Amino acid sequence: MSQSKPRSPSTPHRQSQGGKDFRKRVQRDKQQPDKPALQTVARVGAASAKPCITLNAGREKSLQRRHPWIFSGAVECIDGAPSSGDTLPVRDAEGKFLAWAAYSADSQITARMWSWSEQDVIDKAFFHSRIANALAARRTLGLERDSNGMRLIHAESDGLPGLIVDQYGDVLVMQLGSAGADHWRETFADILQELCAPVCIYERSDSDGREREGLPIRIGVVRGTLPDKVEVTENGLRFAVDVAAGQKTGFYLDQRDNRALTGMLAQDKDVLNCFCYTGGFSLYALRNGAKSVLSIDSSQEALHLAQANVKLNGLDSSRAEWQCADVFEVLRKLRDQNRKFDLIVLDPPKFAPTAAFAEKASRAYKDINLLGFKLLRPGGLLFTYSCSGGISDDLFQKIIAGAALDAGVDAQIVKKLHAAADHPVLLSFPEGAYLKGLVLRVG
Ligand code: SAH
Repeated sequence: MSQSKPRSPSTPHRQSQGGKDFRKRVQRDKQQPDKPALQTVARVGAASAKPCITLNAGREKSLQRRHPWIFSGAVECIDGAPSSGDTLPVRDAEGKFLAWAAYSADSQITARMWSWSEQDVIDKAFFHSRIANALAARRTLGLERDSNGMRLIHAESDGLPGLIVDQYGDVLVMQLGSAGADHWRETFADILQELCAPVCIYERSDSDGREREGLPIRIGVVRGTLPDKVEVTENGLRFAVDVAAGQKTGFYLDQRDNRALTGMLAQDKDVLNCFCYTGGFSLYALRNGAKSVLSIDSSQEALHLAQANVKLNGLDSSRAEWQCADVFEVLRKLRDQNRKFDLIVLDPPKFAPTAAFAEKASRAYKDINLLGFKLLRPGGLLFTYSCSGGISDDLFQKIIAGAALDAGVDAQIVKKLHAAADHPVLLSFPEGAYLKGLVLRVG
């Protein structure tokens, strides 16, 4: 799109009602939502204005519902010359205070809310309180009974946009996904050290989101020393975790409860675990007496760890078969060989990070699920997941229904699944519910 928005006659020199001296002003082009770059439209005088984000009229509604993001299209102007990561007040078109937010100059999400209270000061004490609150929530849920690995901070849903902290025993892994979170990196590390006393805080700021924020990848030790071996014990099973080079922060903590459920139902079954990573679902199935477990992943490193994890737990490896391959191809081969299973897990990577990828992702989900249905014996169970933010619960269910229809099977949903309780979802931020799963029983 190249059409540019006619300048509002009031914009460049208009005195914002939200502050005193707003002579430096930058404005986003509302007609170009895909173009993140800011245009400087007026710089009058030398005095610097107080930085502030002013929204277009009517665009304050989502903030009033406490949604923690502002998209670039909602912004009328940005006063002052803030840097990415700075804390700014957000005001409605009338200049009324709405929230304190972290500014992201290069992102489609222009700002992420820290607080809705004008009295709050966004400083170390503020973050100390937020982080302590997130830790207390985990204690209340008694999660440490089942595991010494858990998500301690789940970003927006814990009131800390862009900050993820996962615990693996006495090692913490911190992932900073926004300019605001990046800005407070040292403060977060200090607070985590004070409150959790880990032997190491390791940074894995290499998520896709960082690119969209214009942030470089950063990986390495932030505090302490990384032990040679990092391990997590989950429901009595031990998993080696590669925090430095593994996927995400090293382990998929969100599937803990779903892995346990699969284990409970795996006895005497022939199990197929697709996208097995370091063997999560497979180990539960093996421990709980599965007859056989075929596990597939395209990552050789993940499969090495998976096999090491079988040994670590003293499980019978003769019932386990591992294939380093593309699941899409293996499923077709298994169909052609007329192989059948009693329980299949499909836990693919994020096919649709945003809604823009939904159509292509839908085809991929339908493909693997259709094949999965065909490989199940009558009465068999399919555990199927999507961790795509761009695929809603409803859409996912529709895709699965289409797959069952095309596979020629009747299937019932026997359970709907989500991420474990250490991945809470803020009611005002439904985007936090990224993981959705269905347990289906075929007739
Ligand atoms: N179920 C796992 C997590 C799965 S994450 C657990 O509980 O720990 C998704 C996995 O899919 C990753 O390990 C990734 O290596 C693998 N993967 C991605 N694309 C693949 C493909 N086309 N074929 C096989 N594996 C794939």
